[in-house]
Amino acid sequence: MSDSKPVVTRIAPSPTGSMHIGTARTALFNYLYAKHCGGQFLLRIEDTDRERSTEASVQVIFDGLAWLGLPFDGEVVFQFARAERHREVVLALLDAGKAYRCWLSGDALTDARDKAKAAGHALRSPWRDREPRPEDLAKPHAIRFRGPLNGDTVVRDLVQGDVTFRNRDLDDLVLLRSDGVPTYNLAVVVDDHDMGVTHIIRGDDHLNNAARQTLIYQAMGWDAPDFAHIPLIHGDDGAKLSKRHGATAVTDFATLGYLPEAMRNYLARLGWSHGDAELFSDADAIAWFDIANANKGAARLDWDKLNHVNAHYIRLADDSRLTDLVADVFAARGEPLDDARRAQALRTIPLVKERAKTILELADQLVFVFQARPIVLSEKALGLLTDETRARLVRLSDQLAATNDWSAEGLDSLLKAFAEAESVGFGKFGPALRAILTGGSASPDLHRTLASLGRDEAMARLNDALSPFA
Ligand code: GLU
Repeated sequence: MSDSKPVVTRIAPSPTGSMHIGTARTALFNYLYAKHCGGQFLLRIEDTDRERSTEASVQVIFDGLAWLGLPFDGEVVFQFARAERHREVVLALLDAGKAYRCWLSGDALTDARDKAKAAGHALRSPWRDREPRPEDLAKPHAIRFRGPLNGDTVVRDLVQGDVTFRNRDLDDLVLLRSDGVPTYNLAVVVDDHDMGVTHIIRGDDHLNNAARQTLIYQAMGWDAPDFAHIPLIHGDDGAKLSKRHGATAVTDFATLGYLPEAMRNYLARLGWSHGDAELFSDADAIAWFDIANANKGAARLDWDKLNHVNAHYIRLADDSRLTDLVADVFAARGEPLDDARRAQALRTIPLVKERAKTILELADQLVFVFQARPIVLSEKALGLLTDETRARLVRLSDQLAATNDWSAEGLDSLLKAFAEAESVGFGKFGPALRAILTGGSASPDLHRTLASLGRDEAMARLNDALSPFA
C-alpha cells in the first residue's frame, strides 16, 4: 500500500437488530484512525441477509453511530444494492481463469469434501479441471474461486503481525451461488476496493476471511488494504462478551446511564493505550491514536473502570443536559417530570452529580427531592425521633426559618454552628433530620439536601414531622 494514498477506513456492520459494543469499538478505532491520519471514515451496511436487514435494524446502526458521536463521511454504501457489480467481478475472475463453474452439490459435494480432507487439503471441486459441456451450462451451478494449491498466503496485519495461512487449507470458496447471489468474502473485497478502503480494522474473528480476501485481491490484481485485526471484547469471566454477560448492545449502555463521551473514552482504552492515560478528550484520542498500538491480547470489559470513566464525564457534563437525561429516565419509569420538577432537578444536579456513576444513579439521587408531602416516616425514622432529638430539631428548625442564606455553604456553616452550640456531633440529630427531609431515599450531605429542597419545601417537611400534631 502506497503511503501517499489518503487513509480510508470503514465500518461494515450487518444489521442484526442491535449494535454490539464490539462493533461500536471497531467503529471507534476506524473513526479515530481515519481522523488521526486526516482521512475518511466510511459506512457500509452489509445487508445481504434480507430477512434480518429490515429498515428498523438498519436504523439501529445509524442511531448507534449517532449516539456514540462517530459521524461517517460520504454516502452510506448498501451492499445488497451492489450485487450486479459483485457478479461482474465474478465473471471477470471466470474470464481470467481465476474462477470456475461448479455443479457440485448434495452428496457429491460431501464426498468431495471428505476426499479432500483425507488427502490433507481443503475442498477442490472436480470441476476445477473439467471442461463443462454446453448442456451443463443451462443447469444451475455455482462459481468457485480457483485457489492456489500450494504455497502460503501471508496476511500482513498491523496488530497481529504476519499471519501465514497454507493455501492448501483454504478451500475453493464459492463466489457466486447457484441462485446468482454473490457470497460474503467476494462482496467485501469488491466493496472495499471500490470504496477505496486503505485500512480494514475489525474483530479478529475475521482473520481467516482476510486470507481468503487477500487471494481475491491478488487474483483481481488489486492492492490489498492494510489489515488490523483486533481481539474481541471479553466479559469479566474471560469468555467472549455475549448476552449471557448482560449488557452487550450500545442501547443497553445508553439505557444503563452511560454517556457517549464516556463510552468513547472507555472503548478507546479497551484494547488500545497511550502510555498510562486513562481519561482523555476526543481531540487527544485523535491525536494519539495509532492502530499499531492496539493490544494483541483480548480486552476485558471492566465495569468498575467504565463507571469511573462515566463518573468523570458526568462531573464535566452541563447541568441542563444532565437534567434532560434524567428526565428521560423518569419518563421511561412512567413518572415524567413536570416543569416544577425539572426546575428542582436542575437545581439539585450540581449538588449531587459528584457522586453519580451513571445517569440512573443521578436520577435515584433526585428522588428525595420529588417525595410527596407529608412524608410517611418509617418505624426506624420514628425511633430516631426521641423527645430529646425532636426538641433539638425544633431549635434547629427555628434557626433555619430565620436564616437569610439558604445556599449550600450558608447552610453548612449554620449546621456546624448549631452542632457546636448544642455541644453534640451530627450523629445526634443528622439521621433524624435526614429521615424527615428525605423519607429515607438517597441524598447528599445535609446542607446540600436542604439547599436542593429549597427553603419552602424543606421547612414544610420539617413542620410536617415536628409540629406538635405530627
Ligand atoms: N459485516 C461484518 C460483521 O458485521 C464485518 C465485515 C468486515 O468488517 O469486513 O462482522
